[in-house]
Amino acid sequence: MNGFADKPSTSAHDRQPVTRRQFLESGSALAVGAALSGAAASAGAEPRKGEMQYRRFGATGLTVSEIGLGCASGLKSQTLGPFLFDRYREQLPAIVDRLFERGGNFVATSQSYHDTEEILGRALKGRRKDAIIFTATGKDKAKDVVAACELSLKNFQTDYIDCYFSHGDWRDGFYEAAQSLKQQGKIRFIGMSCHVPAKHRPHVEAGEVDFIFQPYNYMALAKWTEKIDLPGIEELFALCKQQDVGVICMKPMTGHFIPNWAKETSEPKVAQLMQELRQFGSENLYQAFLMWVLKNPNVCCAAVGMTTPHEVVENCAAVGKKLTALHYRLLDLYAAAATRDYCRMCETCMPSCPHGVAIADILRFRMYYKNYGHRADAREYYAALPADRNARACSRCGKCEQACPNGLAVVEKLREAHSLLV
Ligand code: SF4
Ligand code: SF4
Repeated sequence: MNGFADKPSTSAHDRQPVTRRQFLESGSALAVGAALSGAAASAGAEPRKGEMQYRRFGATGLTVSEIGLGCASGLKSQTLGPFLFDRYREQLPAIVDRLFERGGNFVATSQSYHDTEEILGRALKGRRKDAIIFTATGKDKAKDVVAACELSLKNFQTDYIDCYFSHGDWRDGFYEAAQSLKQQGKIRFIGMSCHVPAKHRPHVEAGEVDFIFQPYNYMALAKWTEKIDLPGIEELFALCKQQDVGVICMKPMTGHFIPNWAKETSEPKVAQLMQELRQFGSENLYQAFLMWVLKNPNVCCAAVGMTTPHEVVENCAAVGKKLTALHYRLLDLYAAAATRDYCRMCETCMPSCPHGVAIADILRFRMYYKNYGHRADAREYYAALPADRNARACSRCGKCEQACPNGLAVVEKLREAHSLLV
């Protein structure tokens, strides 16, 4: 049954990830594109305060900035490496400052993201009324959810959480507790996050959620999947619009492949992309990801992982801008290089597996390890999977590859994930 051997990770993927800023500094990220027709603004063109745009957040009565801060970079172990992780935590208050200077008005985290709630709570001191706080718990039982919420209130030094959500899936115990917490005024609105549109639908239809977190990015387009159109995402967003449920997008920039790719340019498509990014400026690609997400009128906002104040400036520069031919070119180059490696976590393959292997979770942990650099977290999550659902349970029958609409070499990726994560 077990097609994979337990072995330590290979050195190729143990190399430290670099931040976007380091990547920019390592290349000749010149704004040559500005001289070309339709080229985008360079990162140096800092928007003035007040250039942020805002959208209505469903029926909540909240008005959210189009871009806010997502905090998955604060996954709970020092897996960016001690230097980068500590630097991220040290920079978080400055990142919040820069975001609010640029007109951003929300932060989104989870209690499972290390001590980000506490750091954000300190950073928001004195401007609580100007901030919209999203935070989450993955607890199942109602009493545990209540305890988690009380801790979040303490961490944020506040009396109420604006938007409280069930992290990663729906849980009835969460909903039971959240309704009570809402009645007590400890939370204002109830939501959920999940990677699978079909899992959001029943809770939107039932009127149980005020908002949803859904991954959404350029890689969801049918042109990269070859088999099916957007896997239910657009329909879900239209339903949310109809039901007046807020839509906040996560993973707007896919899986943060670029810094690692910068070091691995032997793959021709990656090499071509890297060459173009150095020529035209990689900020154009990051901004293009955001412009593409924000051009959807059914999207309210994007939660963007940002690890330096400079990235805040880069990302906020995307607000109000229109995609140009250069942007589409960079997006297409990126997608062509990434499409066979990027698991959309759609779970389409899961019913086909005779052994119940947790395919989407395993490939997500692989992404945490390889692309985010969250190595210890990824290993911890993988170790927490039931033994009969990890990659050892795979018999290599290949049924998941036939089912995957994105053409991923799932079996090989599971094998690689196992070798990295044990
Ligand atoms: S190849 Fe895919 S479908 Fe077959 S056992 Fe392995 S994970 Fe399951
Ligand atoms: S392997 Fe393919 S089908 Fe399975 S979750 Fe990932 S993208 Fe979806």
